[in-house]
Amino acid sequence: MPSVHEEPAQQQPVLSTLNQDGSRRWIKPRLSHGRLLNRRRALAYFLILLFTTIPYISLNGKPLVLLDLTTRHFTIFGKTFLPTDTLLLALLLVGIFVLIFLLSALFGRVWCGWACPQTVYMEFVFRPIERLFDGAPGRGKKGPLAGKPFSKPAKIILYLLISMYLAHTFLAYFVGVENLRHWITSSPLNHPAPFLVVLVVTGLMLFNFGFFREQLCIIACPYGRFQSAMLDRNSLIVTYDPRRGEPRGKATRLPADVSLKVVGEPSPPVGDCVDCGLCVATCPTGIDIRNGLQMECVNCTQCIDACNAVMTKLNRPRGLIRYSSQALIAGEKPRLLRPRVVIYPAILLAVAAAFVITLSNQGPAEITILRGIGRPFVDLPGGEIGNPIKIKITNRTDTPAEYFIELADTKAMHLTIQENPIHLGPGESKTITGMIAAHPSALAGDHPAAKLTVTQANAPAGAEPFVQHLNFTLMGKGQHRPHTAEKHDEKQDGHK
Ligand code: SF4
Ligand code: SF4
Repeated sequence: MPSVHEEPAQQQPVLSTLNQDGSRRWIKPRLSHGRLLNRRRALAYFLILLFTTIPYISLNGKPLVLLDLTTRHFTIFGKTFLPTDTLLLALLLVGIFVLIFLLSALFGRVWCGWACPQTVYMEFVFRPIERLFDGAPGRGKKGPLAGKPFSKPAKIILYLLISMYLAHTFLAYFVGVENLRHWITSSPLNHPAPFLVVLVVTGLMLFNFGFFREQLCIIACPYGRFQSAMLDRNSLIVTYDPRRGEPRGKATRLPADVSLKVVGEPSPPVGDCVDCGLCVATCPTGIDIRNGLQMECVNCTQCIDACNAVMTKLNRPRGLIRYSSQALIAGEKPRLLRPRVVIYPAILLAVAAAFVITLSNQGPAEITILRGIGRPFVDLPGGEIGNPIKIKITNRTDTPAEYFIELADTKAMHLTIQENPIHLGPGESKTITGMIAAHPSALAGDHPAAKLTVTQANAPAGAEPFVQHLNFTLMGKGQHRPHTAEKHDEKQDGHK
């Protein structure tokens, strides 16, 4: 079997995608059919369908996923995270990162090869189009539309249309399908900013899938760069078995019945690799898996399918290139229990518990009372002392709400406030200013405080009304500015 990967010495690459003269080495991988390709293809089309339909799916009357950057409301699986949910979002992000670390430690780059949008769209959308118009690399196969005068422009138009579809779908995750539908059906002059976003994203998609391609995985993707830190010797990787494959030999077909005795001179022992080069020719990042674990390998499994086909033809056992681990390939005992496989789930469990506890402790509203800007207190006409305040209220429910604020002690002090009751839409936040005017007698003692109660004026029928009590430390002549602990007391005293 002749090698399909023979290049003149001066054109031998220095990197998988770089020639010796510094020019780009364009990679046109040969498609290798096999079980793994079939499975990856089925998953890829399912993921494309999912990506396209998610913006149209609703849960509890909300979009399944909507990342509204302008209002900073992030809806994920029907739960809306508000701008004040920094802790929840931080826990969610930490959880996702730890999960990625854990999955990488166990299954290596399974994400890259099977589910990453770059691989999914490149290998199962853009490359098939390329093969249709330019022909399939290897064996000089011509695509059904290769060599026609319209092939090149048709390919570019198709690339452009798919990039536009990707850009619009991508935008739907941030603005919702209703807004998107409205923008598509009206003039771009009415919505220049989203139009510009779609234009830029379309351009980036076209650049990525038409030109940049595997460079994104090799150069730009941080996940790829972190692989050496995330994998260990027992992580699952796509690997070549050198103990079985080396020294490389010739492509001779073994008898189907391997128990047959060989007559004649015994030939020197050779490995199962016949150096056909198909594993290299099929690699979308242009590497030779036989050189060992490499950062460029995205675990796409194409070399497994390619080599399995060769082994099958030669009546040799499949799996010369296979899913395995560095330890197994070196003949070491596999170790399922390793520090990172124990530590990551422990962290994940702690983060998940913190997330659930924080989430379950959230009330239907979030109220914070702070000291007003400027002087902490002022002398008012009539001898009263005024403490300027700022009250921030967030309505966490999905319905409009009305909150009423009142003081517990109305004899010695009174409250003037910008707006009372305060009307808030679903998920809306408002900061209002006010003043607590207190008689000097109310400021006697070490920690004079005003007790405020916030109640929801329009609680839905049958629902337990929302009530929250807050303490606010009052200041006046002879009092000091409260230290941090007192400030915390000001914020909230409990709720419901
Ligand atoms: S590893 Fe398999 S596909 Fe690669 S050169 Fe050897 S026989 Fe060919
Ligand atoms: S070496 Fe194999 S698994 Fe890795 S990127 Fe190349 S073809 Fe895919």
